[in-house]
Amino acid sequence: MQLLLGFLLALIIAFLAYKAHSLNKSGAIAATFTGTIIFGIGGWEWAILLLTFFITSSALSRAFKKRKQGLNEKFSKGHERDAGQVFGNGGIATLFAALHFFFPNELWPWLGFAAALAAVNADTWGTELGVLNPHPPRMITNLTKVVEKGTSGGISLIGTLASLAGSALIGILASLFNPLADSASIFFVITLAGLAGALFDSFLGATVQAMYFCPTDNKETEKHPLHTCGTPTTLIRGWSWLDNDWVNFACGAFGVLTAMIWAIL
Ligand SMILES: [Zn+2]
Repeated sequence: MQLLLGFLLALIIAFLAYKAHSLNKSGAIAATFTGTIIFGIGGWEWAILLLTFFITSSALSRAFKKRKQGLNEKFSKGHERDAGQVFGNGGIATLFAALHFFFPNELWPWLGFAAALAAVNADTWGTELGVLNPHPPRMITNLTKVVEKGTSGGISLIGTLASLAGSALIGILASLFNPLADSASIFFVITLAGLAGALFDSFLGATVQAMYFCPTDNKETEKHPLHTCGTPTTLIRGWSWLDNDWVNFACGAFGVLTAMIWAIL
């Protein structure tokens, strides 16, 4: 019964997001799947965390449009999310919701779920709000190197504080709705895990994420095989399979790893 309700709720939200152009068709199908598992198996506490991520990240990606003009260029996709982005951001959280079905009385599926969402939320808030930083960002692997806004691997003070806030919001909700343990320590571990995941995302962006080059515009881009101008792009650095969706997946995984190590210690 709860699974059916979860499916209906997920379907309605995915449909509204599709109508609002936050999701394209494949993204809406993927979101219905992830939403059904998370709402249907987890219940309302899990739904609130997922919706907090989904609603704030969709809203922030539309906000400050003027400041982002010309930057969209650098990001590989617009604000309409596809299935790859939905699974990149929500795949690990979905896995932990499914694990909760098999281990309903244990805390760790909740910790993994919250840590994965805290990480992708921190990453999204940092990326979307980082554009408000008055100065250009610096490379996470070399803080003396100033780079253009929107460059993968670039970090700024406002972006990092936004990541911390995005992570802490999920941390607060995770501790409020936690089934068993001491709330203060859950808030702390989830917030830390989320920030660690977002920083790991930037680190991958600076090192091994696939980056391409458009010869027509003489520009570095995440877009492949074609640039926005229609020119085929060529790989200039990174691993060709490690696109933005896999980097988001790794961001969530690193958040989970941080939380689990903390929990074991
Ligand atoms: Zn181009």
